Amino acid sequence: DLLVNQIAAGEVVERPASVLKEVLENAVDAGSRAIEVQLEQGGVRRIRVTDDGCGIAREELALALERHATSKIASLDDLERVGTMGFRGEALAAIAAVTRTTITSRAEGAGHAWRIDGDTGELSPAALNQGTVIDVADLYYNTPARRKFLKSEATEYAHCDEMFRRIALAHPEIGLQLSHNGRVSHRLPPSEPIRRVGALMGDDFLEHAREVRADGGILALAGFASMPAYSRSSRDAQYFFVNGRYVRDKLLTHAVRQAYTDILHGSRHPAYVLFLQLDPAGVDVNVHPAKIEVRFRDARAVHQFVFHAVSRALAESGA
Ligand code: ADP
Ligand code: MG
Repeated sequence: DLLVNQIAAGEVVERPASVLKEVLENAVDAGSRAIEVQLEQGGVRRIRVTDDGCGIAREELALALERHATSKIASLDDLERVGTMGFRGEALAAIAAVTRTTITSRAEGAGHAWRIDGDTGELSPAALNQGTVIDVADLYYNTPARRKFLKSEATEYAHCDEMFRRIALAHPEIGLQLSHNGRVSHRLPPSEPIRRVGALMGDDFLEHAREVRADGGILALAGFASMPAYSRSSRDAQYFFVNGRYVRDKLLTHAVRQAYTDILHGSRHPAYVLFLQLDPAGVDVNVHPAKIEVRFRDARAVHQFVFHAVSRALAESGA
């Protein structure tokens, strides 16, 4: 079983940032209002995520580390309509198979917390307010061949930072903090979406961006797209979210780029943060854990809608 989980880990756990993604999504799914991330050595040495969500009951703790254990699907039917981001029940088992993982959690209404050691499966009482602390240490300690593919501490940290930004942009209502080797790098209070965008993209971005806002009934697009005067750093600053989930999708990227080409005759590095909402039945989120691609039922309609919405915003006169 450990071997099966280690193989699954090859798909889910590419690097520290992929661990961070899964653990952060779980904290979001748990209804957390505040989430704190502590990284050491680019996340390779340690990723610790503390949340104030619903917690995990004692009898569920061991289950949480088992493959295909998920509290998020009641029936196969739910797969179609699943609203939460994680729904496969494989992530924690895979992570625990290639790291030293402990989970400490106190469920709503429980008298105290419990801790489970991922290696031994041992349960012990612990002290914690409501919520969960997932501590993932020593990535790939037992699979040295994989460890060799990890990049420098700075590079792995940069990937973690990027993952953190995506989750933070998607969830402005959640307070989020990130620290690396004991130094705080992001402290984000719960805020309005626009303030969260400013905090992560810089006020400079907002000053030189047009607001995008279009409601087409079954499709809605909101966010900001930079004008050419915006000179950004070299960091990739193109964020597209579909139903609250970060995606990198050719169709959407193309629609935005075409708007920049048509209206501004191109802009070398457009920066944008865009949120598309549509009926979940109209989109397949690829079920592969590591993928961030989507498939639209009516791709042409989505392309046109995004193209027109961004074009209209860019064409508006004024600063
Ligand atoms: P999935 O998220 O696909 O259900 P995971 O392996 O990521 O699978 O997590 C397994 C289960 O552990 C979840 O379904 C959830 O019940 C529980 N869990 C994990 N992290 C948390 C958390 N931070 N707060 C509450 N429950 C959690
Ligand atoms: Mg999950």
